[in-house]
Order: sequence, then structure tokens, then C-alpha cells
Amino acid sequence: MKSIQEALKVMLPAFEPVGVERLPLSLALGRYAGENVFARSDLPSFSNSAMDGYAVRWRDIEGASETSPRLIPLQGMSKAGGEIPPPLRPGSGMRIFTGAMVPAGADAVVIQEHTRLLKDEQKVEFLHEVAEGANIRMRGSNLSAGATILQTGLGYGPGEIGLLAAQGYAQVTAYRRPRVAILSTGDELRDVAEPLLPGQIINSNVYALAAMVSEAGGEPEILPNAPDSLEVIVERLKEGARADCLLISGGVSVGDYDYVREAFERCDVRADFWKVRIKPGKPLTFGLQAHRPVVGLPGNPVSAMVTFEVFVRPCLRKMLGDSRPFRVTHQVELVHAHRHSPGRPELARAFVSMTKGDHFEAKLHAHQESGAMTSMVGTNALVLLNADDEHFPAGSKLPAILLRDQNGSSEPPFSLV
Ligand code: AMP
Ligand code: MG
Repeated sequence: MKSIQEALKVMLPAFEPVGVERLPLSLALGRYAGENVFARSDLPSFSNSAMDGYAVRWRDIEGASETSPRLIPLQGMSKAGGEIPPPLRPGSGMRIFTGAMVPAGADAVVIQEHTRLLKDEQKVEFLHEVAEGANIRMRGSNLSAGATILQTGLGYGPGEIGLLAAQGYAQVTAYRRPRVAILSTGDELRDVAEPLLPGQIINSNVYALAAMVSEAGGEPEILPNAPDSLEVIVERLKEGARADCLLISGGVSVGDYDYVREAFERCDVRADFWKVRIKPGKPLTFGLQAHRPVVGLPGNPVSAMVTFEVFVRPCLRKMLGDSRPFRVTHQVELVHAHRHSPGRPELARAFVSMTKGDHFEAKLHAHQESGAMTSMVGTNALVLLNADDEHFPAGSKLPAILLRDQNGSSEPPFSLV
């Protein structure tokens, strides 16, 4: 039986990005750069005013104050999107607005509030002096043409998308989203809209797994359920080989009706392992079908989701091009005592919240059985309980991963300001 780390080590190399594609910038959110991206132009691309006011040569109003204002003639104006302003004549000031080009010769902008326009609007009084460069956003001061904006494997977020738009990138290069086929197996399974006969249950795993695939950035494709029949499972395995990756749920254990193992043999899928030391979710397998990864997950709904989270999610993130495919491990403090049956490391579903004391507190869900689907609802974390420990007293510090990046709050942030 493999450990979690050993299983991951075998699986990860099989999941490589599945090529790059060009896409419109507006579709780039959540995708990863498939190449280094460079600045096409200086930012700002021309020196412009940060304020509404007057462009001047700072020396022309050196020493100006409320008690001894400096009177200077006005020379036209420069507005955002307006004509290129002529060079500023020495000893003159030019009316200028936010975002407008700074005329050649000017080296500072005085804010409107520090001036007084004379009645004839031909002259301005300056009531303060100004530092060289004040209120001017110099060409290239934020970014120089040619600088790297984004490195391969980093994500396109709203900020990146805004900057790329500002740089004239209507299209970007991103790693393709992996297409993930999802196959369920079991005679007892019916689709969500179908009526149930006694002993039948709804095929919920394909819905949960498809949602997890989407959340991980993949494109799920649900295959028709396979009954417990070797022939059909073999058929579906071949069908699933069209996708970039195939997930199978159920039938991977050692029961009389678990046919995945035999189907693997028929399809030349050499499995690297069949069991992993993890709870929930011991039955777990991974192999390659014509270089395409196939992962067999347990049928139990919670086991399927937890093993997806631990093993499949990082693999799909890697396939998507994410250079940091793993969740961050946090230390959480158990708020109550918990008993654990020793044997396998357990990933207990928990609700984790940040307390005022600046640390994470974890409350484990009361139902930790592998089929107890409610434990995946209202929880937001998996807390690791060591294989060999039995008693976890209240206050135990344990490693955990948070399943939601953002844990919302009913309170607005920064309540101090
Ligand atoms: P198996 O791994 O096939 O032995 O299934 C283990 C348990 O999970 C059984 O109780 C199955 O009925 C249940 N199960 C298997 N596949 C699914 C599925 N797709 N949706 C919901 N439950 C399932
Ligand atoms: Mg089954």
C-alpha cells in the first residue's frame, strides 16, 4: 500500500500541460501563461498629469507663497485625449487636466487648489512653490517596454488582464484546459432525473466530480454510467482515452463486482498501485492508457471527493499550467477533543475559521464516515489526523488545507478604519 506522498510522486509526472492556445483576453481569467509575456510599451506611454492644474517650469515659481504669489501668463491648455500641446514657453504656465500630455519643457504640475486664476483668464497666480517632477506621471515610470510582465506558469487574474489590456494584448497564450472524462460504475446507479427502484441510488459522484474538475480549471465530460460489466467498462475505458485524463469512480476495490482491475488488464493499462494509505479512500488506482492518465477513485462519495482533492486536483492544476498546483498547509487548532481509530492517516472534514487571536480554529464534522455526504457540506477544510494517534485533545495543533481560497465573512473588512 502506498503512502499519500508516494502515490502523488508516481502520479504527478504523468500530468503535463496539454499544449497552449491563443485566446481572447476576456477569456483568460483563471488560465496560466503559456509563455513569458513582455511589456510592449512604456507605462505610462507618455508623460502625463496626475492632477488637474497648471504645467510649469518649477524654477519659474520657486519661492511662491500665499503672501508673495507668483503671477505667470497662461499659454493654452492640454486635456486628456486632446491635441499634442506645443512646448511650454519659459515663464509661462499651461492649463492641464488629469491624464493629459505634459508639454515639452514643463517639469511640474501645480494643483489647481494652489493657484488663483485672474479674471481675464490670461494669467494665473501661484500660491505655493512646487518640487521638480511633482504631479507628473513620467513616461515609463511604472514599467519599461521589454520588461517581463508575466512568467510562464503564472496566472491571469483581473490585475494581469487589466495590465495586458493596457499593453494592447487583445489575445494571450494560455495552457489548454485539460478535458477530463468521468466514468461511474455500478449496477445500482441511476441518473439524478431517473426514478429509483429499491436498492438503487442516484449517481451523485459524477456531479460532484464534474464540479471539482471545473473548479480545478478542467473541462469535465461525463460518460454514460457503466453497469458492473467487464465488457461495458472496457468499452468506456476506450471511450475515455479520447480525453486528456480519465477518472473512474467505483469498482476499483476487491469485491466480486469490482471490474476495473480486469478492465485495466484488457486495455493494457498498467496500474502503479491499487491502494493508498489514506482515510477516507483506501481503494485508489492510477495507470496510463496510451500515455493518458487514468485514475480510479473509490465509489464512496466522500472518499471519491477527498481523494480527488488530494491526488487529482494537484495533477489537474499542473496540467492547466499552474506552477504552484498544491494547496497551502495551515496549522489549525482543534476546538474540541476527537477520537480517531489508528491505522491510516485521516483527512477529517472540518469547518475552519480565523479567530480574533489571529489563528485558525477547526471544528470537525460529526459524521466522518466515507459515505456521509453531509460532511462535504458546510465544511471548508481537510484536517490531517496522524495515522498512529488515537486521542486528539482540544487545543491540538494540526495541519490542514483550506478548500476555499476565500472564506467569506458577514462583517466588512478593516473594521478599524
Ligand atoms: P464501490 O467502490 O463500487 O464498491 O462503491 C462503494 C460505495 O459507493 C457503494 O455503496 C456504492 O453504491 C457507492 N457508489 C459507487 N459509485 C457511486 C456513485 N457514482 N455515486 C454515488 N455513490 C456511489
Ligand atoms: Mg460498485
